Amino acid sequence: MGVYNEIVEAVKQADRIVITSHKGPDGDSVGSSLGLYHFIRKLGKDAVVCHPDKAPLFLTWLPGAHDIILFEQEPDKVKRLLAEADLVFCLDYNSPDRVGSDMEPFLSASPAKKILIDHHMHPADFCAITVSDTAVCSTSQLICELIDGSGNHVLLDEAIGTPIYLGIMTDTGSFRFPSVQPRTHEILAELIRAGVKHWDIHEKVMDTNTVDRLQLRGYAIADKLELIKDYPIAIISLTEAELKRFKYQKGDTDGLVNVALSIEGIKVAAFFSEKDGQIKISLRSKGEYAVNVMCMEQFAGGGHKYASGGVSFEPLETTIDKFKKLIPEYFA
Ligand code: 5GP
Ligand code: MN
Repeated sequence: MGVYNEIVEAVKQADRIVITSHKGPDGDSVGSSLGLYHFIRKLGKDAVVCHPDKAPLFLTWLPGAHDIILFEQEPDKVKRLLAEADLVFCLDYNSPDRVGSDMEPFLSASPAKKILIDHHMHPADFCAITVSDTAVCSTSQLICELIDGSGNHVLLDEAIGTPIYLGIMTDTGSFRFPSVQPRTHEILAELIRAGVKHWDIHEKVMDTNTVDRLQLRGYAIADKLELIKDYPIAIISLTEAELKRFKYQKGDTDGLVNVALSIEGIKVAAFFSEKDGQIKISLRSKGEYAVNVMCMEQFAGGGHKYASGGVSFEPLETTIDKFKKLIPEYFA
């Protein structure tokens, strides 16, 4: 039996299914979770989606988004669901610590059979079934492969397809990254045939600025963009006070790092933001540099070759200095 049939069999035999994804939800983690959620319901079973924390506003319109249970809001409920589950999906992450240190112990302690579906490098060996394909642009695309590969293509509908389309769209920068394959477009065509309103998704995700969000981005570009002398590197940083000034909401700074990367001649871009005393780091590259190595070795993070992230517990200025000092070592 192929792995996708095996997964659908496991779903059919399970009574209590929980779908998890990584901390700091993005389009692909929410998209793959909700795509799978609606598929499982279409199979006549039920599931609950349990995420560590809240998704940005541009994702909360998705069908089923309001059913997602958040560990940060209802820890006891998530603990109970994980303890009582007989099947747990781990979507869009490669190791249990990616759900965050608060939720991780309860994920790891869950007696449920675990299934990993993911596209990040180096999947940890913690699931009974592991579907990990780093050549695929998004976990959402893999959910569609699960539906197709298990012979359930006829079940595809707008509710299943909309989050999947969104996940592929956001993880590929609107279908433009090298990770897009001919197969990606075949799947997109399938989704549109199944009733997905692609124009509506683009509008809801892309054209939903607030004035504060636009002004924060304008300020970051006008006042906080720094080009590193002698290197093709640009950085943007924002302090907690600056974010507050523009009434920062989750998602407001998404993609700013790509704006820095879009500068002619720039090959690596870094974005530093301060929140709750921690510094979140996002690195992007185009061309030859792999940014995940620095994230892994220096900032307790990881990710893909061209898009990765990490964290620092030192002050913002110290973190930026550390990054600058490491440039010759990693991006010579
Ligand atoms: P972003 O910069 O959008 O937060 O993250 C880009 C990619 O880097 C994510 O898709 C994820 O693969 C990876 N990443 C971001 N933050 C972390 C982190 O703290 N740890 C690890 N292992 N990977 C991260
Ligand atoms: Mn992803």
